[in-house]
Amino acid sequence: MTEAGLPAGADPTEQGRPGRFRILDAVLKGTAVILIGSATLILAAAPIAGCVRPAPVPPVVEGIPFEPDSGTLAVRCGRLIDGLADEPRQNVTVWIEHGRVREVGEDLDLPDGTPVLDLSGHTVLPGLIDMHTHLIGEVEDSTFPKEMLKRSADEEVASGRRNAAATLQAGFTTVRDVGVYHAWTDRMLRDEINAGRAVGPRMQVAGYYLTTPGGGGDVLNPAYKESDIPAHLRSGVSRGAEAFRAKAQEAVDKGADVLKIIASGAILAFGGVPGSPEMTPEEIQAVIEVAHAAGRKVAAHAHGAQSIKDAILAGADTIEHASLIDDEGLRLARERGVALAMDMSDDGYIERVGRPAGYPQEFLDKMAAVLPRQRESFTRAYQMGVPLVFATDAGTYPHGENAYEFPIMVGQGMKPLDAIKAATSVAARYMGWEDRVGAVAPGRFGDLIAVSGDPLADIALLRRVDVVVKGGLVFKRPEPAAR
Ligand SMILES: [Zn+2]
Repeated sequence: MTEAGLPAGADPTEQGRPGRFRILDAVLKGTAVILIGSATLILAAAPIAGCVRPAPVPPVVEGIPFEPDSGTLAVRCGRLIDGLADEPRQNVTVWIEHGRVREVGEDLDLPDGTPVLDLSGHTVLPGLIDMHTHLIGEVEDSTFPKEMLKRSADEEVASGRRNAAATLQAGFTTVRDVGVYHAWTDRMLRDEINAGRAVGPRMQVAGYYLTTPGGGGDVLNPAYKESDIPAHLRSGVSRGAEAFRAKAQEAVDKGADVLKIIASGAILAFGGVPGSPEMTPEEIQAVIEVAHAAGRKVAAHAHGAQSIKDAILAGADTIEHASLIDDEGLRLARERGVALAMDMSDDGYIERVGRPAGYPQEFLDKMAAVLPRQRESFTRAYQMGVPLVFATDAGTYPHGENAYEFPIMVGQGMKPLDAIKAATSVAARYMGWEDRVGAVAPGRFGDLIAVSGDPLADIALLRRVDVVVKGGLVFKRPEPAAR
């Protein structure tokens, strides 16, 4: 609310037009504010006949432990972009009960005493989804420092808690975490968050990278002897279709929500060429058969055109990076409904920070060769109608800056609403979670964010999220205006 008691963004000349009487926000404030001409009369604590008591303001979750998905509240939205519809709605209320959205509409019949979060001056959107993060570890791990070999699982999870909290504060209430070196530390973090013992987004985890020896998901490094690398950092390293099949099954059995394969070379890895295949089509096929039989999706890391096609033809659900995809690959992705998870914001970071920080020249050279092509591929994919999901590779750059990807997507030609859907309803579909996240709609979790202003006019506003609600619990909101 502004100082004059008007909803932010309201036109004061309209509100104060002579001869008009308005009662503003009386239910929420428990006071009547009557505008008569230009004079404002405030009847403090004078309830209007038939008016309910002032609604409580929902508290902010301050720490752990807490009971996840237990929140009940009503959110008044100035503007709602629900993640599904093509047009925003104005002045609707979202009623969240026991963590899930119960109803969205005008004039809802709310139970007396329901806490109210007044976002009538904001644009409300679904909680955002990042389809490609690595919450465990430090950004500096991109260069495989020696400390990484010695870190305990608890130390890894400690970094994950910090990164998870930063991600949630940035408005990302769900992530697909696509790989850790230290096996299953991602599962530990996921389980803590789900139990209310850590603050962070909902997570799908992979458990480990399924990768070839020396491949893009292997820590094998010219600086270390292979024998010095602990086995838990190489849990998914395999060769041959049968070995991959067994490792994929083990990942499913131990609690992976999604399987991650490294089909072609990586940029932040020693040896290997990003454009060249590392896994054979048979190895890729073996993993996907196991995953799909168990109802899990497969995220395939592939920069190179050949590996992208191999992964699509084998049935991968998403292609990560997809930098060097060719027209045949784009057509195949569109035909088979395979989504591309292209991360464009991290290249700027690697260039800006990686070079002065002394990233190995090999990494910088690979990045320079591949990443500009990725932006061109993104534009072409969008023009051709290939499904695209929001992805950042946060972990190779700082957590909490995920939304920096949005202006790049829009800059590459994507409509702002499509960029928002890529990070909400479309992402949810490719996670297999469209029953629970990705939209402000009845039955889904009460996960939403709010920004001041209109992100359809300025997508960069999503970098400044004022409000984060997850499971009906408020994790971030502006201080309530003085009453
Ligand atoms: Zn990644």
